[in-house]
Amino acid sequence: MEDLNFRNGDAKTDVYGSSTMLQPAPVDKIPDGPTTPEIAYQMVKDETFSQTQPRLNLATFVTTYMDDYATKLMNDAININYIDETEYPRIAVMNGKCINIIANLWNSPEKDQWKTGALAIGSSEACMLGGVAAWLRWRKKRQAEGKPFDKPNFVISSAFQVVWEKFGQLWQIEMRQVPLTLDKTTLDPEEALKMCDENTICIVPILGVTWTGLNDDVKALDAALEAYNAKTGFDIPIHVDAASGGFILPFLQPELEWDFRLKWVYSISTSGHKFGLVYPGLGWVCWKGKEYLPDEMSFSVNYLGANITQVGLNFSRPAAQILGQYYQFIRLGFQGYKEIQYNSMEITKYLHAEIAKIPQFKNYSPDVVNPLFIWYMEPEYDKKANWTLYDLQDKLAQSGWMVPAYTLPDTLENFVVMRVVARMGFNRDMADMLLGDIKNAVAALDKLEYPTTTRIAMNKNEKITPTKFNHNGRRKADKK
Ligand SMILES: *Cc1c(COP(=O)(O)O)cnc(C)c1O
Repeated sequence: MEDLNFRNGDAKTDVYGSSTMLQPAPVDKIPDGPTTPEIAYQMVKDETFSQTQPRLNLATFVTTYMDDYATKLMNDAININYIDETEYPRIAVMNGKCINIIANLWNSPEKDQWKTGALAIGSSEACMLGGVAAWLRWRKKRQAEGKPFDKPNFVISSAFQVVWEKFGQLWQIEMRQVPLTLDKTTLDPEEALKMCDENTICIVPILGVTWTGLNDDVKALDAALEAYNAKTGFDIPIHVDAASGGFILPFLQPELEWDFRLKWVYSISTSGHKFGLVYPGLGWVCWKGKEYLPDEMSFSVNYLGANITQVGLNFSRPAAQILGQYYQFIRLGFQGYKEIQYNSMEITKYLHAEIAKIPQFKNYSPDVVNPLFIWYMEPEYDKKANWTLYDLQDKLAQSGWMVPAYTLPDTLENFVVMRVVARMGFNRDMADMLLGDIKNAVAALDKLEYPTTTRIAMNKNEKITPTKFNHNGRRKADKK
């Protein structure tokens, strides 16, 4: 058989001189035989070579930079399965310490040494766990009262992240959406309460709304809920989806009450791999106390040599992220996190102010409350422009930037917006480079004499689907 690795089996042949490099990469079938690690490495590396550089990807919320020590720690732990807690008990303890630290950042009232919370692979799993706990608590209460418990629902704004749609679908819990408008840009507590009834398992405000960067007003919701629950006799709680805000507000706005200080907030979830500053995948969920985590959700597993309590959807999972999170806590401390989040926020505010000066654009909100914001085309200009923000997205990609354009959900679906997320690893100089590229691109697009294909489609009111999924994870075809 022909040796595909080396011509005539010559080990001195360079990777790019090998015959394997003349073959297409496998698509359907596992190759017949092995190749050298050098060749395999290069083939996989090359296949992803032309992608956006992670740090120029301003679409993602997820960490794209950690220092060398963090990276080394995580690489050192790459072969550790978190679930083997008996074999690696120090990591289970470290996990508990991370949960304690996060619960305390959110002003947990819990007095026990180990706070009630769970590790997750991201906010998605963490949201699911918070949602399932709310559902089981509600169900148990309904059962005890001899009432039907087959039609649960939850209430959220229409700017939900896709995980909540999954939660509704997978557990068959009706999702009730409070539509956003240009005037009401965040969840309206009164509108949310109008959608509640005896079957409502929880209301889900979002801190750092994926679509807009804004924060739902949890304090106002809590106050409205207090009156509502007193009047109706229900006890509808709040789960806060703090995927981004959970690691921003404790450092930059510690006085803002959105967390366990509020009466009806029973659980909170966040992404350790967003502003928790750890590489993916890491999420956290905490409950206000043990009594809010239903027994049915914690499983004791004893075949690994000890009785271990687990809360989670997955079994095996990487442990490296826990080391990364604990390292960041020690390395940065409260002050270090504050400095990094402050810088991300200042750079966002700078970009926001500069975008406001570009006559073709209009910011969605005058406020910047998280290190991200969105803008759209100035409406008068939009009527006569020959291009759209989708064209700008393409033009910026030519300089390596990933700056997403997408339509807002639901009632605002005619608004094409563009979003920038500033994270650790994005500095003022890069912001200036981006602004320069945006201004050059706009100047070039303004010179177009004929409308672009996306502009033609938009003028005809056709849906534009440059990619199958938008940057908020929702399938575009879902909305009709
Ligand atoms: C990112 C995000 C999620 C999902 O988080 P992952 O960590 O990517 O699983 C959920 N909710 C909100 C508001 C988000 O921004």
